[in-house]
Amino acid sequence: MSESTKLTRRTVPKRLLTQNSDLRRIGVFNWTLPAFVIEMPDGSHFNVCPQAGVCAQLCYARVGTYRFKNVRAAHIRNLLLCRDSPEEFERQMTEELRHNRYAEKWIRVHDSGEFFSDEYLLSWLRIMHSSPGVRFYCYTKEISRFKRIVVDDAPENFLWCYSLGGKEDHLIDVATERHADVFPDVEALIAADYTDQTESDLLSVLSTSPLVGIPANRIPHLLKKQGKETFGSLQRARDEKLRVKNSGTGQGFALAH
Ligand code: SF4
Repeated sequence: MSESTKLTRRTVPKRLLTQNSDLRRIGVFNWTLPAFVIEMPDGSHFNVCPQAGVCAQLCYARVGTYRFKNVRAAHIRNLLLCRDSPEEFERQMTEELRHNRYAEKWIRVHDSGEFFSDEYLLSWLRIMHSSPGVRFYCYTKEISRFKRIVVDDAPENFLWCYSLGGKEDHLIDVATERHADVFPDVEALIAADYTDQTESDLLSVLSTSPLVGIPANRIPHLLKKQGKETFGSLQRARDEKLRVKNSGTGQGFALAH
């Protein structure tokens, strides 16, 4: 039996979906993975957020309570299940969603982590199709994966919001496509004509305007690092720096980091 199988079996949770205090307040349930590059129990490393850009240095899910041992263990357990036993993950999640507690509720797919592969995203799309009485939403920086797999054939009970601060920001049409940006505070997002989603995270997919503003979490060292910028403006600056560097070396324009 592999190390990951042993861990998955040893620590099977009662439920896969959880609620943090913010989501409980609005009746939303949540599925979580670890954020960005993490060390797995076998010592290997895995990138859960392949398209993360500047967000990785400002990510709330890499600090504070997310680093508590029990929280990290639960997130790694979730990752082991959906990455290494995808059929079992799909079966367990579909089964759990049949419970009355989820009827007509919203599920946020990831408050941390991402759709790290096509296979994993396709698992979720099948789960959504099999759970017509439940509604799903997410933020994502997997722009090309969504445009290739989801956009033209999305489940009716699934809404999403692209999220700035990733390597694929340049693929988002910010004038027309729903997207979120993280601002230093509420005043800054209002000044930029974005909708404030502080009242309910569901505004990320239900607000009239497709421009969704998120005030940065009040984590002092991350606020200091972000300064007056947004995740979107920091990513544009990083992309431009890379463009200049590559044009100087005759390598042409590349956005990969
Ligand atoms: S994609 Fe989300 S979870 Fe991953 S590093 Fe960026 S902000 Fe954190």
